[in-house]
Amino acid sequence: MRFSSIPGLQETKLKLVNSVKNNHLAHALLFHGPEGSASLAMALGLTSYLYCENPQGDDACGVCASCQRMKKLILPDLNFAFPQIVRTKEELKDGVDDLGNFRKFVIEQPYGNIHDYILSMKMQKKQLNISKEAARNIIQTLSLKSFEGGFKTMLIWGVEYLHPSAANALLKIIEEPPEKTLFILITHDHEKLLTTILSRTQKVFVRGFTDEEIQSHLESEHQIDSDKAKEIAILSYGSMREAYRLRDEVRDNQVMLIREWLRSCVTFNTDKIFENVNEFSKTDIEGQKSLMLTGLFILREVLLQKNSLEELLRTQNEERDFIEKLSANTLNENDVNFMYEKFNEAYYHLERNINAKFVLTSLLMDILGLMRRKTNRS
Ligand SMILES: [Zn+2]
Repeated sequence: MRFSSIPGLQETKLKLVNSVKNNHLAHALLFHGPEGSASLAMALGLTSYLYCENPQGDDACGVCASCQRMKKLILPDLNFAFPQIVRTKEELKDGVDDLGNFRKFVIEQPYGNIHDYILSMKMQKKQLNISKEAARNIIQTLSLKSFEGGFKTMLIWGVEYLHPSAANALLKIIEEPPEKTLFILITHDHEKLLTTILSRTQKVFVRGFTDEEIQSHLESEHQIDSDKAKEIAILSYGSMREAYRLRDEVRDNQVMLIREWLRSCVTFNTDKIFENVNEFSKTDIEGQKSLMLTGLFILREVLLQKNSLEELLRTQNEERDFIEKLSANTLNENDVNFMYEKFNEAYYHLERNINAKFVLTSLLMDILGLMRRKTNRS
């Protein structure tokens, strides 16, 4: 994750970059901020910048070998510690991959909290901690030489889950760290931390996002129209996690609708098509435009899927299934491009106040035509 993929927060990014440039970065940092803030994302932004082979200005380049590995969080000198449960022998035999799952969680939900993590890991909260055993592993890992001759990083997420029996060992190593070691501790709840840990770390406070930061991020990166994005931003109170949840709610309904449109085109169900047109024309203009943006969003995801760029996909779960099916069975790349153009055109026309019934009818007729040509071909 690069700094540039985190919306706003310029002052925090600048402070971090300057402390690297001026050699003022402490060897133990504590990133803390409210839930849904960018404390984890910011720590990853800093790590990417530090390991980048060719930093561009104040950010990692995003393309070098280190940056590529960083995107998947598989940099050999970047180690993770996070709350876990004790695994039974059977579970370990089944190949439960907590680290792999943790990486996936961080990549997919960089603004997620402990509840999202628990859900993604299918665990129960009361079992979670960073155990004495884990602390021992941390110490052991850090006593080994770095893989690439540079420095090692130990990123500890959810450090408030540190078991008391593990705290002392960890404190000691933070106090007397092996050479070339960077500790990055991350928490949403720094009041739960031991004062001894607090006093040994340089604190990096990551404030919540402003409404403007959330709004412009939703508009530019998630194709949410500006009125809706503003509404979500206000309701999110600075939490990107909440903003994503609200965005998903909006999008779930919209994806469902578009799925229905496409299904009626694929099955040549013209009655249903006209029913859809009628429904559509009853919604307000912003809702209509937003639906077109969702259509464009889906098609963009299908294109990414077709080009094996899964790591860039934003959809999850059911939505992702739908995208995968469209990509595998229904549409080839030309079809997607054709539909993309048509959705774009429809958006353009709606913006110019052309009658919604007319716009959607011609869009769906174009898609229907495409499906007819495909069926005739095959
Ligand atoms: Zn790079």
